[in-house]
Amino acid sequence: MVNFNDVKERVSFEDAIKLLGITLTEGESNGKKVYRGPCPHCQTGGARALVVTPDKGFYCFSKKAGGDVIQLAAHVRGSSVKEAAEWLLSPGKEQNTNIEPGGLKPLEYLDPTHERVLAIVSEETARFVGMGYASKGIMRGTVAIPIHDIDGKLIAYAGIEEDGAYRFPAGFLRSAHIFNIHRVITGEAYLLPTVEDVLRAMENGIDQPICFFNAGIDPIQLKALADILDGRTTTLVV
Ligand SMILES: [Zn+2]
Repeated sequence: MVNFNDVKERVSFEDAIKLLGITLTEGESNGKKVYRGPCPHCQTGGARALVVTPDKGFYCFSKKAGGDVIQLAAHVRGSSVKEAAEWLLSPGKEQNTNIEPGGLKPLEYLDPTHERVLAIVSEETARFVGMGYASKGIMRGTVAIPIHDIDGKLIAYAGIEEDGAYRFPAGFLRSAHIFNIHRVITGEAYLLPTVEDVLRAMENGIDQPICFFNAGIDPIQLKALADILDGRTTTLVV
């Protein structure tokens, strides 16, 4: 059993921010250090939705909820406080066990026949994509969708929560990836707004739909796009 006080003594807010891989800007308020930035879990509420005051606690203006360092980890990871407390003590444990040189090992236990999956795509498309409902692991309770790099190497899973929010693994840099980019070979690629749009497009036989995981466009993504447009004689349709 994890002792919450023990976790709070051992893990500072600054530690947690680094472990969770969230990007916050350091500022000052009434002489105290304050970190602000977008909330990676809610993805709404703008660029200053998440506030961390190391002396006091955190607050998410999007969710209108806050608390201590464990509650911060639970909010950002979309997990229970117990799971968050355990994760803060050994954050690498869960993620590093199944990484292989060729990429991440696919999660075998994802269920492509779950109703939350079938609400987005057919079982056939779900099996083709390699997505499914996760009943355990870091994506537990979400529809987990594999994310590949441009060469088709499995690098992470993104989860769609029941309320439609996305869950990403800690440290996953959303702006560095483009969903479905490994399937763009030649011809026209369609840039769509969301992951669900891409999945539904695949369901409807549209070739090479892609989307960004973040709202803005990052230079890394522009470079990846430029690479596919050049190297794979692709036209981008927006
Ligand atoms: Zn939030």
